[in-house]
Amino acid sequence: MKIDFTRYDRIVFFTGAGMSAESNIPTYRGSGGIWHQYNYEEYACQIAFDNNPEKVLDFHKIRRKAVLECSPHSGHKAIAVFEKSRDGVSIVTQNIDGMHQQAGSIDVTELHGSLFRVRCRNHGIHEDLGEFTEYKCSCGNYLRPDIIWFGDSLVSEVVEKAVSLISNCDLFISIGTSGVVWPAAGFPELAKKNGARCIEINPELSEMSYLYEKTIEGKAGDVLTRFLI
Ligand code: NAD
Repeated sequence: MKIDFTRYDRIVFFTGAGMSAESNIPTYRGSGGIWHQYNYEEYACQIAFDNNPEKVLDFHKIRRKAVLECSPHSGHKAIAVFEKSRDGVSIVTQNIDGMHQQAGSIDVTELHGSLFRVRCRNHGIHEDLGEFTEYKCSCGNYLRPDIIWFGDSLVSEVVEKAVSLISNCDLFISIGTSGVVWPAAGFPELAKKNGARCIEINPELSEMSYLYEKTIEGKAGDVLTRFLI
């Protein structure tokens, strides 16, 4: 199969945890996933943070450190080079690991927030690319990870941007997502309904595979370097 990218004006890469698997960033649910080791109710929801912020922030620090030891792979880099080579390329990601930006991508919409941002109740968002040594803002409030936790709503402006990109794209390429987390799980259908050609890259068929014209069965890094470079 070949994709003639010159036929498309607005291309969206929609990525999930599988996009970062070859960077050795663990998934949350699969085998070896962190929710087998940690109870998310103690580490990844607002109530846990309100009850014991230091415990939640210690966990956050471990997650941040693990990601800082990883690097973008050839697939992240191929998307970034492709984005720079032409107009009309955007990335909508469910990942919080910053790998697309580290690879050089610019137009990245992070649906579920970022491991590398924290926010203060009074002073808003701080970007912090380091190992997360300061748990408190200068005003004394604990800094809350700027991540969509269990029970949180997505940020409406972020969802609006994603919906606009996806409704208006003519090529939608989904990579490494099982399609079970809402509202992101509705995006392939949205792209298809609005007339986009929809392609999936995944080593396994997903619950959403029936929506795609084609599932390219393979790992993100292998497939993206083959198709984009
Ligand atoms: P998921 O874990 O539900 O599904 C991962 C998918 O990736 C599976 O379909 C699997 O077959 C596929 N996959 C595995 N290896 C792959 C590879 N090398 N190349 C391509 N595909 C591969 O992931 P999800 O749908 O993104 O949902 C999980 C949620 O957890 C998301 O909300 C995401 O925000 C979050 N999460 C993020 C990270 C991260 O930031 N890297 C990691 C884990 C989970």
